[in-house]
Amino acid sequence: MNAHEVRSVWTSDEGSMAKQTAEIRWAKIIQGTVDDMGETAAMENIDDQKRAESIAIQIALKNIKKEIQKDNALTPLQDDGKPDVQEWNNLLAVIGECSWVNCPWLFGECYMYRRIQGILTSSKHWQNYDVFKRQKDSTFVKSRAAVEELANRYMQTVAETGLVQNESKEEAKKLRFIEMTEVSLWGNATDLSLLANLTLEDLQKLQGRDAIQKSQRNIVDNDTDDVWAYLQRTAGQHSRQIDIVLDNAGFELFTDVLYAAYLLDAGISTSVRLHTKESPWFVSDVIPSDIESLFKHLDSSDCFPSRESLDQLIPRLRKFFQSGAITTTSDPFWTTPFSFHEMPSKAPALLKELQNSYLVIFKGDLNYRKLTRDGLWPHTTTFEEALGPLGKQSGIKTLALRTNKSDVCVGVPTQREVDALNEEAPDGAWVQNGKYAVVSFNEGQ
Ligand SMILES: [Mg+2]
Repeated sequence: MNAHEVRSVWTSDEGSMAKQTAEIRWAKIIQGTVDDMGETAAMENIDDQKRAESIAIQIALKNIKKEIQKDNALTPLQDDGKPDVQEWNNLLAVIGECSWVNCPWLFGECYMYRRIQGILTSSKHWQNYDVFKRQKDSTFVKSRAAVEELANRYMQTVAETGLVQNESKEEAKKLRFIEMTEVSLWGNATDLSLLANLTLEDLQKLQGRDAIQKSQRNIVDNDTDDVWAYLQRTAGQHSRQIDIVLDNAGFELFTDVLYAAYLLDAGISTSVRLHTKESPWFVSDVIPSDIESLFKHLDSSDCFPSRESLDQLIPRLRKFFQSGAITTTSDPFWTTPFSFHEMPSKAPALLKELQNSYLVIFKGDLNYRKLTRDGLWPHTTTFEEALGPLGKQSGIKTLALRTNKSDVCVGVPTQREVDALNEEAPDGAWVQNGKYAVVSFNEGQ
């Protein structure tokens, strides 16, 4: 099947996550930004001019909410001085006439975050304000039990095996790889743009050790063996830089940093590069300041009172950053509306970097939607095919770790398995509800 024959999901598609998101969640997300601005502006240390400007910002944000609720047409971005405005408007022109609840989901959702960003960046006092920070922080603190449990496990592992030296048995190494990959995979289940109202108990259930063990059966495309075979086959390469294109801050970022530490400790990679967004995006996505915020929270005994393992773990993690073994980077391409099929033409330098990488790990739902062009592919389509230009002969070793929270899912081995999933979780629930996942790998050969 040709990539161009498969259309992308629209927010008007009946029964889609796209439609539900556009009709219900978007207005709530915007209201959340209004409330957040109000709360910050009411703080005592905010000066009067800044407070006054926040009123205008809140009105502008409320106007987006009204546009969504009235299902207005999507209009070209106003010039806010950023170099990307023309590109957004060109793409909108190509799509043609469309409205909030009748547009390509990927474009519409990115457009909403770009509009929010445009309002803040054109302000005088709020240019660098992260309107989602409060929400990211409060959710991270709620994952206390899971953070402490993972810190315990990691330090126990270090103490018991010394990781690299004593873990000589191949099978043990592989099991540890599966375990740590799953920690990073299911860490994605707390994407708070979707699960904002989780109770503490829910969070613990999703993140606990038992849940991770049971969850293997819910990985509907599981290429873990292939990744492991690739890593074993190429272990002699001199430079083995692994790139992780991040999704969410807070708990998921913690699991990703832990995963990076494991990849280095176990000698699988020689360095790890974390890719963040440049600006606040999809509520919970990592921006550069979230890295320091992660450590600030981990250091706090108010947030995480059970300190024994954390006090050993944190210096280990920090050392990786200080030594340059773990680095961070942002590319403007990650906050464009383009799917990754457009990377060869829109971000050739980034493409080249990823081609030079030993392994590129894409975290989460948005990255997966962009990898697969948010296409309504038959679920048995191979991951390689859905990757389009980033698949066959791309030279990119792609690993997607994603819990299923939208309308696209490929790589299910047989139609029989698709049928079984449809029976087990009807009406597309297994593609949408975040309880199923993929570990999809392609070697780009
Ligand atoms: Mg996200």
